[in-house]
Amino acid sequence: MTFIRPCLLLKRYFGSKPNNPKICIVGAGPAGFYAAQHLIKKLKSCEVDIIEKLPVPFGLVRFGVAPDHPEVKNVINTFNKVGENPFVRFLGNVTLGRDVSLRDLQNAYHVVLLTYGAEKSKTLGIPGEHLANCVEARRIVGWYNGLPWDKNLKIDLSKEVVAIFGQGNVAIDVARILLSPVDELKKTDITQYALEALSMSKVKRVFLVGRRGPLQAAYTIKELREMLKLKTCSTIWRAEDFKGVADHIPHLARPKKRITELMLKSLNEPQTPKDKEFRPIFFRSPLSISGSESVEKVVMGINKLEGDNILEQKAVLTDGMEELNAGLIVPSIGYKSIQVDENIPFDGARGLVKNNNFRVNTGLYVSGWLGTGPTGVILTTMSNAFEVAENIIEDIQSEHLAEDAKGGIEDITPILALKNVQTVNWMGWEKINRHEQFEGNKLGKPREKVVDIEKMLAIASS
Ligand SMILES: Cc1cc2nc3c(=O)[nH]c(=O)nc-3n(C[C@H](O)[C@H](O)[C@H](O)COP(=O)(O)OP(=O)(O)OC[C@H]3O[C@@H](n4cnc5c(N)ncnc54)[C@H](O)[C@@H]3O)c2cc1C
Repeated sequence: MTFIRPCLLLKRYFGSKPNNPKICIVGAGPAGFYAAQHLIKKLKSCEVDIIEKLPVPFGLVRFGVAPDHPEVKNVINTFNKVGENPFVRFLGNVTLGRDVSLRDLQNAYHVVLLTYGAEKSKTLGIPGEHLANCVEARRIVGWYNGLPWDKNLKIDLSKEVVAIFGQGNVAIDVARILLSPVDELKKTDITQYALEALSMSKVKRVFLVGRRGPLQAAYTIKELREMLKLKTCSTIWRAEDFKGVADHIPHLARPKKRITELMLKSLNEPQTPKDKEFRPIFFRSPLSISGSESVEKVVMGINKLEGDNILEQKAVLTDGMEELNAGLIVPSIGYKSIQVDENIPFDGARGLVKNNNFRVNTGLYVSGWLGTGPTGVILTTMSNAFEVAENIIEDIQSEHLAEDAKGGIEDITPILALKNVQTVNWMGWEKINRHEQFEGNKLGKPREKVVDIEKMLAIASS
C-alpha cells in the first residue's frame, strides 16, 4: 500500500484552484527557497512551482559550501519546510533553456522568478591558462562536493606546490581542504573519491596570492582563524608585504582592525615547522603560466597600490616580476552567470540579468546571484530574495498580474512529457536524501552524495 502524506493530499486539493497566482521559480538554491518561503507566507493563496536543473535541491548550499562547514548547511531545515509546504511543488531535473523555454514559462505562469545562480567562472585571461592542472577553484569545489559534472575532474595532487589566485572565501575554502588532515575531512559529507585522492595527495605548500595588500584582503577573520588552527599546517607570511601596515591600525574600523592585528600577530609569532604550509602572499598578479605537459611555473607581476582610500586602493602593475614554481594552479577570481534562454535580457559584461530593482519586465523577476552578481553570503541572498518577493506581491496586487487564467504546471507537464523529461518531485528528492544518509552512515559520514544523475533518477523513481 502506498502511503500518501497529508500535505500531498492538500497539495492536490489546492493545486486545482483556478485563480491562485501561479508563480514559477527557476533554480532551487537559497534565493529560490527564500523567495518561495516569503511568497507562501505573505500571499493568502498562491501556487509556487520551483524548477531545478539537477534532480536534487539547494544549489550552492549542497555544491558550494565547504564540507567542513556543516553548520552553514543548517539553512536546509528551513528549505525543507518550504519544500514540504502544500502550496510549493519541486520539479527537479528540469532545465530552463533546454527542457522548457522562458516563453513556455511566461505563457503558463503569472509570474516567473529567475534564480538560477552563477555556474561559470571568470578567467584570468593569460597565456597558459589552458594547460593541464590549471584548474578553476569552482570546479575543485564541485569535485569535492559531488557536483555531477565535476565528478571526473582531472586534478593531479602529486606535486608539492599549489598557487591559488584570489583571496576570497572560495579560494580559502580550497586552500583549507587541500591542507586539512584527511582524518578530519572523513567525518564530513565530502565525496569518497575526493577523500581518497586527498589521502594520497603530495601537496605540501599552498600559496594564496592576492593582487592587493593585507589591508585589502578579502577573507574574513573566521576563515583566517581556521587556517591558523590547522593541526598539521603552519601559516607563513612574507614580512615585506606588511611594511607600514601597523601604522594604519588605529584608523581602521573594528572588523578590519581585528583581522589586521591577527595577521600581524601571526607574522610575528615563532613558527614551529609542520608538515604543510599555508603561504598568503600579496601585491602579485599572474601574467603567464608555462609548463610542458602540465603547469610548472607562473610568472607574476609585482603590483603597487594607488588611491586615497586605503581600503579601496587599486592594484597597478609595476615593471617588477617574480616567478613561482607550482604543479597545480587554481584561478579563484569569481563566478559568472550565463544567459540560458535567448529571451532573457542579459548584461554580458556584468554577467547578470538586466533588471530595475530586480524587475526584468512584466511578470518577470530576478533574484540571488543572477540578479545581484555573484557576491554575498546566504544571508545577503536571503535579504535579496525577501525584497524581490515583496516586489512580486506588490505587483500582483497593483498590476493585477494574476487576473488572466493560466495553466501553471498543467501547461508545462505536456511540454516535458514530449521531451521525455523525467522530473523529480519532493518525495523523489527525499528518497535520494535517505539513500545518501544511509550510505554515509556506513562510512561514519552525515551522507555520501549520489554524484550520477542517472542514479539519482533511478532512486527517485524507485
Ligand atoms: C564555493 C562557495 C562556498 C560558499 N560558502 C558559503 C558559506 O560558507 N556561507 C555562506 O553564507 N555563503 C556561502 N557561499 C555563498 C552562497 O552559496 C550564495 O550566497 C548562494 O548560494 C546564492 O544563492 P542563489 O540561489 O543565487 O544561487 P545558487 O545557490 O547557485 O542556486 C541556483 C540554482 O539554480 C539551478 N540552475 C542553474 N541553471 C539552471 C537552469 N538553466 N534551469 C533550472 N535551474 C538551474 C542550479 O542548479 C542551482 O540549484 C558560498 C559560495 C560558493 C561559490
